[in-house]
Amino acid sequence: MDTPTTADIVIIGGGVMGASAAYHLAKCGIKNIVLLEKEEFFGTGATGRCAGGVRYQFSTEINVKLSIESLPMLECFKEEIGQNVDYRQCGYLLVATNEKDADAFRYNVELQNRLGVQTQLLSGDEVCARLPLMKFEDAIAGTFNPKDGLVDPNSVVAGYVSAAQKMGVKALTRAEVTGVRVGGGQVEAVETTQGVIQTRMILNAAGPWAGQIGQMAGVEIPIVPIRRQMFTTNALKEIPEDFPFVIDFGRSLYFHREGEGLLIGMSNQKEKPGFDQNIDEEFEMENFEAALERMPLLERASRASHWAGLYEVTPDAHPIFGESNVKGFAICAGFSGHGFMHGPIAGKLMTEYILDGKFSTVDVSMLDLARFEEERLIKEYNVV
Ligand SMILES: Cc1cc2nc3c(=O)[nH]c(=O)nc-3n(C[C@H](O)[C@H](O)[C@H](O)COP(=O)(O)OP(=O)(O)OC[C@H]3O[C@@H](n4cnc5c(N)ncnc54)[C@H](O)[C@@H]3O)c2cc1C
Repeated sequence: MDTPTTADIVIIGGGVMGASAAYHLAKCGIKNIVLLEKEEFFGTGATGRCAGGVRYQFSTEINVKLSIESLPMLECFKEEIGQNVDYRQCGYLLVATNEKDADAFRYNVELQNRLGVQTQLLSGDEVCARLPLMKFEDAIAGTFNPKDGLVDPNSVVAGYVSAAQKMGVKALTRAEVTGVRVGGGQVEAVETTQGVIQTRMILNAAGPWAGQIGQMAGVEIPIVPIRRQMFTTNALKEIPEDFPFVIDFGRSLYFHREGEGLLIGMSNQKEKPGFDQNIDEEFEMENFEAALERMPLLERASRASHWAGLYEVTPDAHPIFGESNVKGFAICAGFSGHGFMHGPIAGKLMTEYILDGKFSTVDVSMLDLARFEEERLIKEYNVV
């Protein structure tokens, strides 16, 4: 496809945020939309490398509300978009092994229940009873929500992109944004490796790279890329089909069923910011040993695959929604490692904002860029 020379809106980044925004904007009748992705395929950034977990279990009201809107959009994705996204409601089981986390869990369950989310609080014994294949003698408390689960990220991106294209969105791959032209405090054009596109509206949906795009426009965006990695095992016949997404919260160690085996990941708390997406083999061994302690049957497992991706971390682990000090330069990024699940509602909210100047479905106006300077941070506890 030839690169267009003008656009009503240019969306930078073809991950879940950019794809969802393209779809929702087109659905609302915006005609001249261009979606730009630097890689050969859409969804190969954080979205395509993520664990696919979707959950209602958060510690802040705003994140729970985003899940309340977003997860049902994934549940009815096939009906709306025509693409199966393989939603498996296996539940998330978060396990606390220290009093501080257990206290936080109690608070979180109360908050979620108050907002209408039916998360259950479990005792340590109940955790052990639910996880007979795991060793959790040190569990103090757990939380479980049966509606949490897993969704295929690539299908979500593919579904949104193709539905958007059918409505006329020009979606380009191998189109890297190299510059943003601003005149008199207003966006004027986007420079790409495939040419210049005149536009007065940009949506920065570049995930872990959103800070770089901000710099091109002279907008300071505090999003830091941090590597996270995981591996999968061969088939393990002992793992039941309904095995939940288990999180050993104190160690940021998680397990979920992937095919007939398991996907296992752990957050390296010593990881320094950077764009490196190679596997850290030494840390992978640490991850495997921690997993083996919790699940001895892994002794018989072999690795089927492994990969690394980038979290897009903000100082308060909440995303950034809305405009910046440069007119026409909007941001939808910084979901801090749990954004895949909020992609559907995020695209819809940015559409509301671009068309009406306000967020109607969920009021996310407090998640603006200015909050960092004005010290209005809202800390999320359930970050893995
Ligand atoms: C290992 C790992 C596990 C995760 N697990 C989960 C999970 O279980 N559940 C969950 O909800 N979230 C999870 N996440 C987080 C989730 O993946 C992200 O929050 C979400 O995918 C962010 O989507 P995005 O569209 O903002 O970013 P991305 O998917 O990274 O999309 C941004 C796109 O912008 C493109 N781009 C960058 N620069 C340019 C440029 N100059 N020009 C053009 N294009 C550009 C990139 O190539 C990329 O495709 C995980 C993340 C990682 C890394």
